[in-house]
Amino acid sequence: MNSLNALHRLSARPRVVSSVTELDDALASARADQRRIGLVPTMGALHEGHLSLVRAATSECDVSVATIFVNPTQFGPNEDFTKYPRTMATDLELLAAEHVNIVYAPAESDIYPPGFSTAIEPPAVAVPFEGRCRPGHFRGVATIVLKLFHVIRPQVAYFGQKDYQQSLVIRRMVEDLNVAVRIRVCPTVREPDGLAMSSRNKYLSPSERQCATAISRSLAAGKSRIEQGERSAGKVREAMQSVLANAGITRVDYAAVADAETLAELDIISRPVVLLMAAFVGTTRLIDNMLVE
Ligand code: AMP
Repeated sequence: MNSLNALHRLSARPRVVSSVTELDDALASARADQRRIGLVPTMGALHEGHLSLVRAATSECDVSVATIFVNPTQFGPNEDFTKYPRTMATDLELLAAEHVNIVYAPAESDIYPPGFSTAIEPPAVAVPFEGRCRPGHFRGVATIVLKLFHVIRPQVAYFGQKDYQQSLVIRRMVEDLNVAVRIRVCPTVREPDGLAMSSRNKYLSPSERQCATAISRSLAAGKSRIEQGERSAGKVREAMQSVLANAGITRVDYAAVADAETLAELDIISRPVVLLMAAFVGTTRLIDNMLVE
């Protein structure tokens, strides 16, 4: 990179757009030149987990697009849609520091104009776990993600392993519907004490924040049991549950040992598995997972 280019990259701020028309305008030259467009969909309240996806996109693609949209249709009626953290000004600073080219932060009416009534029926892998605990969640996710794929037309889209089931839902949808986008799933970014970064960690009080480390410790305990040769999924689940119980986490939506591809729950561990967990710390629902290959 010559020094003028370097200077431009340093000073360039993302172009922030809020409508599909502006988005088409911002992407016109990239599309005409067949430059590689990378998409990072987010709901904002950005942290290092999101930024790791952004860094993958900016390093692997010619043009990076981050979206910020708290999608109402993926929240249940008793969930945290209205109190979900919204930190647009800080988010834009963070994305500028990563040299993101375009930020699409649509108004709700741009995504769901009056009369909008179509939805994607998500694939079978959306049924258990989050699908069971959060009815309609993956319908909302699949619909918004497909819509973002259509309006942005990225060559590559970046998702986090943090939302493991979501990544399987999107991979399957893209395959089933022949969507021409490559899905990249990036590793979960954790706090130094192991807690998976999440916008929802902001809800935790200091004592809850301390308690929340039990979730990743529980998954790590399950993983280490399997690595030591345990093949009974029941025993692994018990090991995970006991770490949660010792930390006083009693409201557990699931602590499961599942096939890493189909998410079928297993009795005997004989192939790569994912340990999946959703539990409440106080009133905050946290999810996390670990792969054991
Ligand atoms: P969200 O804003 O929660 O919808 O997340 C946007 C994207 O960031 C999703 O693909 C998430 O899986 C991903 N993500 C969230 N937290 C993390 C994390 N701790 N590490 C890696 N990716 C993450």
